[in-house]
Amino acid sequence: MNFTDEQLERYSRHIILKEVGVKGQQKLMNGKALIIGAGGLGAPAAMYLAAAGVGTLGIADADTVDLSNLQRQIIHSTADVGKPKTQSAKETVNAMNSDVEVVTYQELVNAANIADIINDKNYDFIIDGTDNFPVKFLINDACVMLKKPFAHAGIIRFQGQLMTYIPGKGPCYRCAFRNPPPAGAVPTCRQAGVLGVMGGVIGTLQAAEAIKYFLGMDGLLTGSLLTYNALTAEFRKIPLKADDLCPVCGSTPSITALVDYEPPACADCVSN
Ligand SMILES: [Zn+2]
Repeated sequence: MNFTDEQLERYSRHIILKEVGVKGQQKLMNGKALIIGAGGLGAPAAMYLAAAGVGTLGIADADTVDLSNLQRQIIHSTADVGKPKTQSAKETVNAMNSDVEVVTYQELVNAANIADIINDKNYDFIIDGTDNFPVKFLINDACVMLKKPFAHAGIIRFQGQLMTYIPGKGPCYRCAFRNPPPAGAVPTCRQAGVLGVMGGVIGTLQAAEAIKYFLGMDGLLTGSLLTYNALTAEFRKIPLKADDLCPVCGSTPSITALVDYEPPACADCVSN
């Protein structure tokens, strides 16, 4: 594909990087990322992937925009309150970069539809922008079974964490966190609060992981969990090992079909 003059100008700060160049920008434009949850994490992830020119962005979310989302979900505006989040996100991305095709899935992601959504455009990289343990484990299990890379992340209060799973290279989310906690054991952002910028910090790092993956770069967060504490301004990188006894990615998996663990505590928790 030949770049237009407008594209050469738009992506000039990428193209000048020797690690990206015209070929790398082409890889980004051929990239297909699926963002599950258009909330605090998914909003900045979608916006940076769109700005970077990632060619296809799938956005899955069942919610509508609520006024209490706007403190952190920067892809939505005051005028979007009441709109489906997927529609609001699509409008923001379309206004930012017409090179990007946005595919929306206005539905709650569950065991029955996640494989169809991932396979719909044969997405290359999945971003977990949910705040709901059952769905986080579901995304992990689906990505392991479908051999899809994904970036896990979570935020609450002043804390954030992320890790990247690449099939065949290092641990999955379940190697580190075996099972979902019992319903109600861990507070949601709605119950515990979250500093608005946490989604920006961690969701942007998820976008960086996707971009590096599309570019074929090394140095992804495979085999480590990166944590960020805004109160102390500290990042920590905790090594993680693949576990041969892991029930989904180990050598003798006991989980071989997708299941819904428990219903979300509330629809608001899906994409905080
Ligand atoms: Zn595993």
